[in-house]
Amino acid sequence: MYAFNYQKAKSVADAAAALAKNPDAKALAGGQSLIAAMKLRLAAPAAVVDLGGVAELRGIKSDGKNLVVGAMTRHSEVVFSDDVRKAIPALAHLAGEIGDRMVRNMGTLGGSIAHNDPAADYPAAVLGLGATVETNKRKIAADDFFKGLYETALEPGELITSVSFPVPKRAGYVKFKQPASRFALVGVFVADTGSGVRVAVTGAGPCVFRVPEMEKALASKFAPESVANIRIPDKGLNSDIHASAEYRAHLVTVMAKRAVQAALG
Ligand SMILES: Cc1cc2nc3c(=O)[nH]c(=O)nc-3n(C[C@H](O)[C@H](O)[C@H](O)COP(=O)(O)OP(=O)(O)OC[C@H]3O[C@@H](n4cnc5c(N)ncnc54)[C@H](O)[C@@H]3O)c2cc1C
Repeated sequence: MYAFNYQKAKSVADAAAALAKNPDAKALAGGQSLIAAMKLRLAAPAAVVDLGGVAELRGIKSDGKNLVVGAMTRHSEVVFSDDVRKAIPALAHLAGEIGDRMVRNMGTLGGSIAHNDPAADYPAAVLGLGATVETNKRKIAADDFFKGLYETALEPGELITSVSFPVPKRAGYVKFKQPASRFALVGVFVADTGSGVRVAVTGAGPCVFRVPEMEKALASKFAPESVANIRIPDKGLNSDIHASAEYRAHLVTVMAKRAVQAALG
């Protein structure tokens, strides 16, 4: 790890000012991705601005129509939140599937989607539920937020403050885990939103993506058999020592079927 300066922010404005002053500074949330990258010298920020003391970034609110989760809310808080379990049980389930207890007690929603690891779980829920990402500057629709491999619509120094999830009629998330890290080899989030069905896939490609053909089939009949014969092309999918592109394409269909079944209860 290279030497760096450390600053603990007291508020969002304080953190934004510190990041604006130093273009080589990075926000620090749970540190589960950033600190690991710094240790490996894959990231070398001149300074880190710790968001851990910013109370306004934490917490979960629900008004029955939307569930708003603060960016610094830890995965474990989402798992055990009564509001999340009641409004969107699939989201609590997804958070409980992330890594291990240590990762869930430290990692945050904001850190996960800002990092946008191709195998991360939260991007599937954000895209699958058609959520809105709120930052210190604007609101960004999920469809416009995830741009590519580790790439999002965030501008340098822009901070996620919360994510607003519309409460769906029903939703399900199922992933096939990479057994060592528990990241998704393939994970599929399916949501019946009342204004249409959304299917979001993580782990299979360089970035989370939707499957319009499955969405259309599920809109006419919300049942596992509707997606059983829909196979996505393997061209452009991830291929590594854990799984070939062809295998990942196969898993998308299988996980989608199981996610629909999970949504049906
Ligand atoms: C062993 C292990 C297993 C894991 N398994 C899984 C898994 O199964 N599924 C999964 O989804 N994830 C997994 N993770 C990743 C984990 O979920 C992390 O919590 C997540 O990737 C990063 O969140 P963080 O809060 O730790 O962010 P950090 O590491 O602190 O930050 C990550 C990036 O986001 C930026 N950032 C942080 N907060 C904000 C903000 N509010 N606004 C703008 N930018 C911000 C930082 O500057 C940095 O670039 C695993 C991690 C480990 C170490």
